[in-house]
Amino acid sequence: MSKPRIFLSPPHIGGDELKLVQETFASNWIAPLGPQVDAFEKEFAATVDVPYAVALSSGTAALHLALRWLRLKPGDEVVCSLLTFVASVNPVLYESATPVFVDSEVRSWNMDPALLAEAVENRIKRGKRPKAVVLVHLYGQSADIDGVSKICAQHEIPLIEDAAEALGATHMGKAVGSTGLCGIFSFNGNKIITTSGGGMLVSQDKALIDKARFWASQARNPAPHYEHSEVGYNYRLSNVLAAIGRGQLRVLKERVEARRRNFEYYQDALSDLPGLAFMPEADYGRSTRWLTCITINPTEAGIDRERVRVAITEENIEARPVWKPMHLQPLFRNCTCFGGTLAERLFDHGLCLPSGSSLSTADLDRVIEVIRRVYKSR
Ligand SMILES: *Cc1c(COP(=O)(O)O)cnc(C)c1O
Repeated sequence: MSKPRIFLSPPHIGGDELKLVQETFASNWIAPLGPQVDAFEKEFAATVDVPYAVALSSGTAALHLALRWLRLKPGDEVVCSLLTFVASVNPVLYESATPVFVDSEVRSWNMDPALLAEAVENRIKRGKRPKAVVLVHLYGQSADIDGVSKICAQHEIPLIEDAAEALGATHMGKAVGSTGLCGIFSFNGNKIITTSGGGMLVSQDKALIDKARFWASQARNPAPHYEHSEVGYNYRLSNVLAAIGRGQLRVLKERVEARRRNFEYYQDALSDLPGLAFMPEADYGRSTRWLTCITINPTEAGIDRERVRVAITEENIEARPVWKPMHLQPLFRNCTCFGGTLAERLFDHGLCLPSGSSLSTADLDRVIEVIRRVYKSR
């Protein structure tokens, strides 16, 4: 009989979600708007300390509307993080713009501000001042927001924060996603809190959020009949799912602490192994450790990441390589890229371990035991 499966980052429901969902049924607000959506937006905005928020069907939809706000034209360039999930770049293509990629820095695995400066100057010299920077906060950790926003401000380039993986993380004590022109979050099933699927766009700019809300509801102009003057989308979040989100928000702090405890448990149990290192935590912020990521340097370890990953998989445990960098994706074969060697190395050597907030120490021990066994068999 095979052992029960351990997932990478499964949903973890708290105490209030079902009761809130029952309220939506009792009130018959089974709709893409309603009091749960309004409350979720308000409570979420308070959580990340921004004045305005709109709940949407996904983080991808949130990023799409953020880019739409900038009214990009075909051929316009948008600077993106190289090491990320494809959802942080796809909306650039929806808007017929061209992504330009910037590699990570060692201390955070997020966008390197020095390389960003180089990229921006290079593009300006070619008459292609970037129309936006989409900055990803990877695996629950803030990027160097100061470093990046300084360069953006200097060249008057709007900064969009992709905080899909980093709700609960801070930079200098401030929530990620709250500094730039706007921030996007995801409530996909694998994120730190979930609505099964959903997203949020937040901003200091009321006009931006109002417009996003308008576009997300088929761009319906105010009139008793159906009147439309612009292309719209069906991007609103269901009132039922917003109820789940409200319940999840109430346990966010506990979820962050549980994920950080997972990380510490792995670190205590594995850091004596040669060539094995953990994703660093930059000193300017606090990571949620959404996923615990390790790297295995094959020359120091005498084994490679793939041997460890395959052994873990054979034990019915889910573990995955670090994101494959965008310049290695066939989709972005012809894109311009600044740097690339660090992201490539993280992809080759990096492994994401099971990191759910509901994992027991027995689960963590199972993962640790496999890794130690692979090391012994070198
Ligand atoms: C999950 C994720 C998204 C997209 O969020 P969805 O809600 O799944 O659309 C965007 N960017 C990053 C970095 C993500 O991890």
